Amino acid sequence: MSPKYTPPEGQIIQAFTFALDLTPEQAASVARFFGARRFAFNWTLAQIKADLEHYRVTGESTDAPSFYSLRKRWNAEKSNVCVTDTGEVWWSDVSKEVFADGVKGATDAYWRWQKSRAGQLVGRRVGFPRFKKRGKDRDRFSFSTAVMRLEADRRHLTLPVLGTLRTHENTRRLERLIALERAKVLSVTVSRYGDRIIAAVRVAVIRPQQARVTQPDSMIGIDVGVRRLATVATRDGVIGELANPRALERRLSELRRLQRQRCRRTRGSRQYKETASKITRLHAEVANQRQHTIHVFTTNLAKTHGVLVVEGLDAASLLQQKGLPGARSRRRGLSDAALGEIRRQLRYKCPWYGSTLIEADRFFPSSKTCHDCGHVQHIGSSEHWTCEECSSSHQRDDNAAINLARWASLGSVGAPVKRGVEHQTESHSAAGDDTRKGSPT
Ligand SMILES: [Zn+2]
Repeated sequence: MSPKYTPPEGQIIQAFTFALDLTPEQAASVARFFGARRFAFNWTLAQIKADLEHYRVTGESTDAPSFYSLRKRWNAEKSNVCVTDTGEVWWSDVSKEVFADGVKGATDAYWRWQKSRAGQLVGRRVGFPRFKKRGKDRDRFSFSTAVMRLEADRRHLTLPVLGTLRTHENTRRLERLIALERAKVLSVTVSRYGDRIIAAVRVAVIRPQQARVTQPDSMIGIDVGVRRLATVATRDGVIGELANPRALERRLSELRRLQRQRCRRTRGSRQYKETASKITRLHAEVANQRQHTIHVFTTNLAKTHGVLVVEGLDAASLLQQKGLPGARSRRRGLSDAALGEIRRQLRYKCPWYGSTLIEADRFFPSSKTCHDCGHVQHIGSSEHWTCEECSSSHQRDDNAAINLARWASLGSVGAPVKRGVEHQTESHSAAGDDTRKGSPT
């Protein structure tokens, strides 16, 4: 198995994802790269299978499959296997890193199976790797050694062979860390998610840490909703909920009552002022209560799980909100505020404990994608819905949280799921915890 990357003392790993706006030529290259990675994966798996079969038949043992030996074999063979029907050799159109990634994917999958068989992996049993079929497999590839950089205009990412790609959103947060030499790019994974092509940039960030995360292998999605404050799930199912605290609910309805009352009173009157000051006080109480609840929640999550996924920027939900009437849009507004706050807190708490926060692309349809079959359908604002494709029924928030948890495999590709997230041993530095200052919240 390839050696685990251990970041130097005082650094932690973080992943930043960006949706890409590709030109038609770039999109065609990316699609070719997806196919090429799959091709190299399948070729490598076939070699491993052939070796096992050879051993079974003859009893002559071959070298244990290793990335280095198989990549060497691939390089020796590629001119013979990468040939089109018309006899053209095509490997030179694709970055060699993409093939290396495919070879590595197959060897890692083999060793995960071996370790799982030997009982060395926690969690669900891992099967023998299977050949990847187009459409069944997540389209993706990673670069890990070549030149990868974020451009200073904060709107472009440059990758080997593909060139300079436009990012859909500003790369400011990451670009700034890199420019200050506080972060270094380790790898970039490009994947398809629905119609969008996403680049996940893994970086080593120099930040202080106070303690270690307790379950570094755990990956969770956090959906912030209207009915419950938050739902927490792994890729396999819901593991927790955060209800709106009762006391908060009570204060909210009291707040709405006072707001109606104030409307009936004459502006500037003594009664008006009285109601207004009650409202101000209640607002502050509500804010404190929510803040406290969210702090306890985020600290607990950041301390416990290795990878956390939340929804990204809120622009999409703000647009949806327009159509919703009265109470619901107020609630929607509240949950958006809660999402912003949860994300803001996780952004600085995760690095403290060495966990990784991933902000899913804001166009990722986490609510309306069926987590059983991947079908996307219109679900309006209903709480329960049934998939048109596979007829499984879903609770909106549960389904969204599970989909978000699965998004985690994007940000940490390159590190196989079971290997979890690298983290360093405890170190304290005077640089302070408040590295988030100056970054947008
Ligand atoms: Zn379905």
